[in-house]
Amino acid sequence: MRIICEFNRLNNYKICGNLFKIQLIYMENQHYQAIIIGGGPAGLTAGIYLSRAKVKTLILDSSIAGGQMILTHKIANYPGVENISGYQLSMNMLNQAKSFGCDVMSGISIQKIDFESTIKRLELSNGKQFSSDVIILATGGRSRTLGIEGEELFKGKGISYCATCDGDFFQDKEIAVVGGGNTALEEAVSLTKFAKKVTIFHQFDHFQGSKYAEEEARNHPKIEIHLNTKLTRFYGEDSLESVDYIDVTSNEIHHQLFDGVFVFIGYEANTEFLQGRCIELNKFKEIVVDSNLQTNVKGVFAAGDATTKKYRQITTAVADGTVAALNAIEFLKAL
Ligand SMILES: Cc1cc2nc3c(=O)[nH]c(=O)nc-3n(C[C@H](O)[C@H](O)[C@H](O)COP(=O)(O)OP(=O)(O)OC[C@H]3O[C@@H](n4cnc5c(N)ncnc54)[C@H](O)[C@@H]3O)c2cc1C
Repeated sequence: MRIICEFNRLNNYKICGNLFKIQLIYMENQHYQAIIIGGGPAGLTAGIYLSRAKVKTLILDSSIAGGQMILTHKIANYPGVENISGYQLSMNMLNQAKSFGCDVMSGISIQKIDFESTIKRLELSNGKQFSSDVIILATGGRSRTLGIEGEELFKGKGISYCATCDGDFFQDKEIAVVGGGNTALEEAVSLTKFAKKVTIFHQFDHFQGSKYAEEEARNHPKIEIHLNTKLTRFYGEDSLESVDYIDVTSNEIHHQLFDGVFVFIGYEANTEFLQGRCIELNKFKEIVVDSNLQTNVKGVFAAGDATTKKYRQITTAVADGTVAALNAIEFLKAL
């Protein structure tokens, strides 16, 4: 006789087969009312709201909770909170979520997902299986990096990917901007509010941004432009001090002092595990949501930097986490 038992969502054993040999297969499947994928500010805020509303919630993160906030030594533009490190704000949000009973698993890797059925299922690479009535996708994103020597070392110590977050730290300093699209051109102009001088480095002989953005940058008295150039190395002691760049037409290498470098060469949403699945993504691979942060799949919401949005900040991420969680609660009530 063979008895196959499945630990179903009501935590009851179900006998699925009855053959000749006795074999007990226990399929561990923990059920939550809500699973949040991604524990940055969007996911942690959703976790706080859901757990506080007594919804059994699990946050899964492929790294440690905190998301991009962890990468910055000083948080800017978060109302009511001054002089706090990204690590500390992350821990505050994480502990707040846990204090309401939210479960958090870090360092996981999602292997399989099935979000189309009423009960959503996912499996981790270690074989652990989870099911849930509602999913919130909050996997955030990352700025594209140059991938050159010294970049990892001076990230957050002179190298930045966010003018709104870090521009203010470069009052009266000499800074460089890397990139040639609209973001690079517009942010270069906005950085002139703080910096003494802004030098734009772009690898091609023409910009890819709008004519208007280009003219504004070209006509700005504080902006200098180096076309056909690529940064090749960052130097410094405790923080960034200088760079090497190559003139791609002559292959000559130059060395120049800078207090800061802002890199604007694109942004990628962390949605690789969703590609080719049922969740609709736009051409930039960002998750498409409606005004309730509902995706195209019923019961699957998305929040924060991974979604289609213009402004990517902690405030916008926590706002999204709130909206997604409150709509998820409504959704659960209607089940
Ligand atoms: C260096 C730096 C400094 C910044 N400084 C500021 C600032 O001062 N003020 C401000 O307002 N904004 C700042 N920002 C922007 C801000 O941090 C982001 O807008 C915000 O963190 C986005 O939140 P999020 O929760 O949507 O995504 P994220 O913060 O990106 O978090 C996403 C989480 O999902 C996890 N994840 C990704 N893929 C998976 C997966 N497949 N499975 C499970 N988990 C996954 C990640 O590990 C991460 O923890 C800064 C950004 C950077 C990079």
